[in-house]
Amino acid sequence: MTTIVQKFGGTSVGDTDKIKRVAKRIKERMDQGDRVVTVVSAMGKSTDKLVELADEITDAPDPREMDMLLTTGEQVTISLVVMALKELGVDAVSLTGWQAGITTEEVHQDARITDIDTSTLEGHLNDGKAVLVAGFQGVSEDGNITTLGRGGSDTTAVALAAALEAESCSIFTDVTGVYTSDPRFVKKARQLGSISYDEMLELAHLGAGVLHPRAVEFAKNYNVKLVVRSSMENVEGTIVEEEATMEQNLTVRGLAFEKNMTKVTLERLPNHYDTMSNLFKLLADEGINVDIIIQQMTSDHGVNVSFSIDSSHLGKALDLIHNARETLCYSEVRQESSLSKVSIVGSGMISNPGVAADMFKVLADEEVAIKMVSTSEIAVSAVVPEADMIRASEALHTHFGLDEKEQEKIELAKQA
Ligand code: ADP
Ligand code: ASP
Ligand code: MG
Repeated sequence: MTTIVQKFGGTSVGDTDKIKRVAKRIKERMDQGDRVVTVVSAMGKSTDKLVELADEITDAPDPREMDMLLTTGEQVTISLVVMALKELGVDAVSLTGWQAGITTEEVHQDARITDIDTSTLEGHLNDGKAVLVAGFQGVSEDGNITTLGRGGSDTTAVALAAALEAESCSIFTDVTGVYTSDPRFVKKARQLGSISYDEMLELAHLGAGVLHPRAVEFAKNYNVKLVVRSSMENVEGTIVEEEATMEQNLTVRGLAFEKNMTKVTLERLPNHYDTMSNLFKLLADEGINVDIIIQQMTSDHGVNVSFSIDSSHLGKALDLIHNARETLCYSEVRQESSLSKVSIVGSGMISNPGVAADMFKVLADEEVAIKMVSTSEIAVSAVVPEADMIRASEALHTHFGLDEKEQEKIELAKQA
């Protein structure tokens, strides 16, 4: 018998009609004789609504209680899907993350899965039941309920697929697959037939919200066959796999962007061995994630340091920096908000010098100011004003041959 894991995201279970449709889909797989584990998210935007409720009460919700609150969303969905399945005459059972044996680190709101005990799940599957698991949640060794970070239901699904050695893991969502860029914003984005784990991982880390980065990490580490597909239309999705076939040999495979960045600059820090460690330890100890870092010598032998952070952390970061003025010994601190990061990704970059230069030329032609830059083996990112983010993305999308029309041109040129 084949075991499959599938996951339906928030929009796909947004109302009771959609929940009934999901139940029908599960029944179809059960009727084929498969062992089916289904992970679901909270209905529609209900996680956001729970966050708003907490915000109405406090500016700094207790992380443990926040997890207690947020995990209720997924529990609503699992029970309703099981009810819908029972209406269809399918034997089914719902399991919370902890009932499904998912243990995580003792971290709230962004916990990593450390272990999965599949015995309860296997027991239900052996009894011929459809199993519904609440996404994005687990339990720590100390018995506290934890969540895996926003969008983490993908990770629950892929981790279960790995633990159960499932044949595949399908992520059903509101788009038909992984696109060259977010189709909601980049109108000429087109769907990819396949993409490699590494490229998908990079895209997910750089802001492509279609998959949770840790889900891709799990899929890569455990070689899970991962498919992203539509929950509404019965069309082929995108396969995420080890070696994706290069479509038209393009250097750049996709483009991602992220908003809400702030660049902070500290001027004339002392040029000491421990300057950088003092500054970044201060931020790390308070859980402030720093993205790009630039260090520059000044003419008077000091250093200027710039770094980028999520804008939501700016207040806290500035407080820490101001309070540590005596130890850090900087002369001035400046900040620039309303920035975003636009990134191009493709494994073909490794063997193609000049991709970054090309990217900067496109941004220059568009008169988009580049505030910071970072590179990896298969990605180049530029921090640009948020107001220019989509225009810059569209220009890069066209330049690197990712537009639908560009593809046709390349095809025609090849045939000629
Ligand atoms: P779900 O609720 O099903 O988990 P998400 O909203 O988390 O759905 O992810 C799907 C959304 O991801 C799409 O609606 C799309 O706007 C966005 N997205 C961002 N980047 C991409 C991309 N490269 N390909 C496809 N969708 C993307
Ligand atoms: N419901 C959670 C969220 O909105 C988890 C998920 O949907 O993956 O982030
Ligand atoms: Mg999602």
